[in-house]
Amino acid sequence: MSEQIIGLITPLMAVVFVAIFGLLWWRGGMGNHVLAFAASYALFGLGFVTTHLFDVTSPYLFHLTQILYTAATVCIIWGAATRVNRKTPLRALGLIYAVCAVTLAIAVAVSDDVSPRLYIVNTGYGVMFTIGVFVLMQSRRREMFDRMVIAIFVISAINFFCRPVLTLLIEQSIPVGDYRESIYYSVLTLVLTVSSLVTAVTLVGACVTDLVGSIKERSDVDLLTGLRNRRAFENDIVEMLDRAALHGVPVGLVVADIDHFKQVNDLWGHQAGDHAIESFGKLIERMVREGDITGRVGGEEFCIAVWNCDLIETHRLAERLRTAFAQMQHEGISESIRLTASFGVSSWRGHETYRSLFGRVDTLLYEAKESGRNCVVSDGERRESAKRRPASKLAKLAERRAATN
Ligand code: GH3
Ligand code: MG
Ligand code: MG
Repeated sequence: MSEQIIGLITPLMAVVFVAIFGLLWWRGGMGNHVLAFAASYALFGLGFVTTHLFDVTSPYLFHLTQILYTAATVCIIWGAATRVNRKTPLRALGLIYAVCAVTLAIAVAVSDDVSPRLYIVNTGYGVMFTIGVFVLMQSRRREMFDRMVIAIFVISAINFFCRPVLTLLIEQSIPVGDYRESIYYSVLTLVLTVSSLVTAVTLVGACVTDLVGSIKERSDVDLLTGLRNRRAFENDIVEMLDRAALHGVPVGLVVADIDHFKQVNDLWGHQAGDHAIESFGKLIERMVREGDITGRVGGEEFCIAVWNCDLIETHRLAERLRTAFAQMQHEGISESIRLTASFGVSSWRGHETYRSLFGRVDTLLYEAKESGRNCVVSDGERRESAKRRPASKLAKLAERRAATN
């Protein structure tokens, strides 16, 4: 009796992990792979209870436990693979189960010795975890928990291949009636309990790390444009400047501000204004390269840190953005109206702080505004403050509106 109560520790532990994974999925809004981990532990717990409390020497119950353990194994492999965006070869896993089930049925029919059955099922699980290792290795994710999950799959595969061989070397053969009292069974119970605990703790750690990462990512993103918010932009550009100093790479900074935006809100409403901000953000994201950093640093003010780019190239990028934005039509804004933006551009002067760089570029943006807006002003070019540009249609409209009020 006491042995059976001790044997319930593992299923109870499985229930706790089902609850933890279930909560992470439900309350943490995590992907279905976390639900698969919960399912895996539910199936594993059921299989363990069946093995421990009932007469598994009955061929039907033995097959039932194999179905439960196989489903648990498939769930955990699918979950771990899906977590790192890899596909699981479910057909291959199904085929392995089918081959094992058929050979197992033959082994049950021809012999009362449990050893051949144990070799068959353990080899099956070993092959499944080996496939799992190959699938996980295809992912480029290699953070601490990714490596730990791979290591656990490797250890599981080795365990399934070696444990039956080693324990059965001692026991030679196990008659069906003696299975519960065998060394194999005691070793199996111990190994299953320890390995399922270690695996569960690792997977919970991986899920919690993923959750914290996604919360951080969400808090870094500006919801309207999908670009970084000011804090995230500043953190990332400081890190980029450190990298640039280390490798001697030039970095350009563009600061852009939509012109006469107060009038846009006044004339067409905040929603139309929001659409325009969103379109500008999306345009910026489309026009920069992967290594560049973009952010919405104010209401209608955007920053681009351009990696490995000199002043001339950064100026050209700003000019391309300016022209593209000035051609766009915007939802909720009169069709004849084109919005414009002004740009300040400069290059990082190695060892200069981000604050100082931003201050210089902000001054250049101010000069662009002073020059009549819808233009790019960069370091080293002749200031155009004196030569004012003609007012845009939006500016004239706003002036007229102000005069009639
Ligand atoms: P300038 O050409 O000199 O930049 O003129 P401006 O009217 O754009 O001046 P300013 O930059 O001072 O005004 C920005 C306005 O943008 C003020 C604020 O009402 C509006 N704004 C800030 N954030 C948002 C937002 O998220 N949505 C909308 N619709 N408007 C915003
Ligand atoms: Mg503005
Ligand atoms: Mg502004």
